[in-house]
Amino acid sequence: MKYVYPTYQRFPIEIKSGQGVRLTDAHGQTYLDFTSGIGVCNFGYQNPTIQAAVQAQLPKIWHTSNLYENTLQDAVAKLLVHGEDRLVFFANSGTEANEAALKLARKYTGKTKILAFYQSFHGRTYGSMSMTGNPSIQAGYAPLVPDVAFATYNDPAALAQITPDLAAVILEVVQGEGGVFAGQKAWLQAVQAKCQANQVLLIIDEVQTGIGRTGYRFAYEGYGLDPDIYTTAKGLANGLPVGAMVGRAQFASAFGPGSHGSTFAGNALAMAAAQAVLTNLTPTFLTDVQAKAQQVWQALDQQVAGLPMVARLTGKGLMIGIHLVPDVSVVKVITALQQAGLLTLSAGDNTLRLLPPLVMSVEDLLAGVQTIATVLAQFETEAV
Ligand SMILES: *Cc1c(COP(=O)(O)O)cnc(C)c1O
Repeated sequence: MKYVYPTYQRFPIEIKSGQGVRLTDAHGQTYLDFTSGIGVCNFGYQNPTIQAAVQAQLPKIWHTSNLYENTLQDAVAKLLVHGEDRLVFFANSGTEANEAALKLARKYTGKTKILAFYQSFHGRTYGSMSMTGNPSIQAGYAPLVPDVAFATYNDPAALAQITPDLAAVILEVVQGEGGVFAGQKAWLQAVQAKCQANQVLLIIDEVQTGIGRTGYRFAYEGYGLDPDIYTTAKGLANGLPVGAMVGRAQFASAFGPGSHGSTFAGNALAMAAAQAVLTNLTPTFLTDVQAKAQQVWQALDQQVAGLPMVARLTGKGLMIGIHLVPDVSVVKVITALQQAGLLTLSAGDNTLRLLPPLVMSVEDLLAGVQTIATVLAQFETEAV
């Protein structure tokens, strides 16, 4: 690409179309998709009900400002809060949802300090980036937003850093970009208890883990947690840009008229898609994701875990990390998998990351695992 800043390391493939769980490139080659964009198209491509919802909205109206009443936004917000005493702020992306959480936490508590975790990822705008525990993402952008400290994920010693002077603790229950590290249930619950005991808000970033990815609407549900605020984006509209921050209704006093906003937020097309996504996210669908994930993990344990180049497997549900030993580059593995017709992702710690669409059949999921096992085994023989 000649006219775009080179901020992305791009593979020499151009996706031109998608159908179900398969993508076709500019040369007509098809791929099985183990990426969902990056955890976005959880319901696959050209999903009939989501596509119909957007097509029905298209001839009505694309955009109205947030100066008017909006029943579509309210309907999506109702689906999000799911019967709990919560309210929603719509944004256009994950980073914006986290910005809203940061702003609300500071304004409501009147405190400034935030505790985040190493290897986290919360986005690229200043607030979210400042809470992201990855020096390479922050490099060159100082001064960052002040009063953000970091602690070690899953470390009991981190609890000592949760003190009453904090406005909030922010974390992912499965750290996605950092290397697909799942939080330990007892540790996460201890973090929440320490937050509650100290009047510190717990913000859970569900941008990657939410919308069914771990087999729950939001991953925190699977850990028995009750965050003060959670954020969602990626999968929420299956590919149309949207983000949302969901917080307790009692915080409304800090988010009154004029306190925050965004021109595009709650866009009608994105809302139509989000409404269809959340309607599709039924208990039956989620049970099915859990059942499929169980079969995938079984296959991974049998076919992949024991390979010499695999250091360990991490993750939860259909959010999977295959950590490779340091001398096998994950980018080379991804390239080889592309040539074998399978699209995959990377994450921190030299990890091959799998985020297949949640609608993928067990047959396709297991075929993808088989491809990974075969390609990794080939690397083995080549290395010898
Ligand atoms: C992708 C991601 C973000 C940022 O979302 P954008 O839509 O890219 O701004 C934030 N948090 C987590 C956990 C993510 O995976």
